[in-house]
Amino acid sequence: MPLIIKDEYPEKLFRDDGKRLDGRDKTELRPIKMDVGVVENADGSAYLEWGNNKIFAAVYGPREVHPHHLAKPDRGILRVFYRMTTYSVFERKRPAPGRREKEISMVIADCLRPLLFLELYPGTSFEVFLEVMDADGGTRCAATTVAALALADAGIPMKSLVTAVAVGKIDDELVVDLSGIEDKAGQADLPCAITWFNEELSLLQFDGNMNLKQMEEFLSLAKTALSEIYQIQLDALKKKYIEIQEEVSGGNS
Ligand code: ADP
Repeated sequence: MPLIIKDEYPEKLFRDDGKRLDGRDKTELRPIKMDVGVVENADGSAYLEWGNNKIFAAVYGPREVHPHHLAKPDRGILRVFYRMTTYSVFERKRPAPGRREKEISMVIADCLRPLLFLELYPGTSFEVFLEVMDADGGTRCAATTVAALALADAGIPMKSLVTAVAVGKIDDELVVDLSGIEDKAGQADLPCAITWFNEELSLLQFDGNMNLKQMEEFLSLAKTALSEIYQIQLDALKKKYIEIQEEVSGGNS
């Protein structure tokens, strides 16, 4: 699959056979793989590969708030730290968190907060660390998706999972799950997320041009893709418990 090499983008984002540059159809997702329980020292964790994106999520909490002045007497707080490693993109990224990382951390926290019962945990914090090891477009969506899995893996009571995907417009066509090149060279990018307990959008950002009719088409495309990704999240969680069950029943025989 093509990665972004410097700022040189192809003129066309569809091949002559009508497929996208990485061989996908318009509504096809990149290959997605998720696992939970991958970081020994975290309360909960998950790892995701989504196309060329590779992201670890580690969750701690409920635990004491540091610094103390951030603690709320009537509820717990959720803190999200999205970071891209210096080697996650072609050109070395500055290690200090930039504005983009702070914005994405905030957006992801807004997606996750409605899932939690923070009012049951006064004076404590839940912390979600998201480390992007390789980035190729759609990392805020991929990070949101894997963060929800890590929270569930930590055994934290949740109303449901949240799932995110970016849909967009390239060469005047609506497509699902933009790659890095499509994100940069395309005409529109619309990351969105759904919280499954109420089926409401908890993320809707937009960059580019589109009319209202296209927006409706976008959201309908996104809904199908989100259901597909949700199934992969559920399978990743189930896999861990099937493995534990097999270990236990193997041990008993
Ligand atoms: P998202 O990853 O959610 O799509 P952006 O639209 O900001 O967020 O970024 C699109 C893609 O651009 C990223 O996934 C990554 O591949 C690339 N990118 C982001 N920041 C940098 C950076 N500082 N240097 C090089 N590439 C970057």
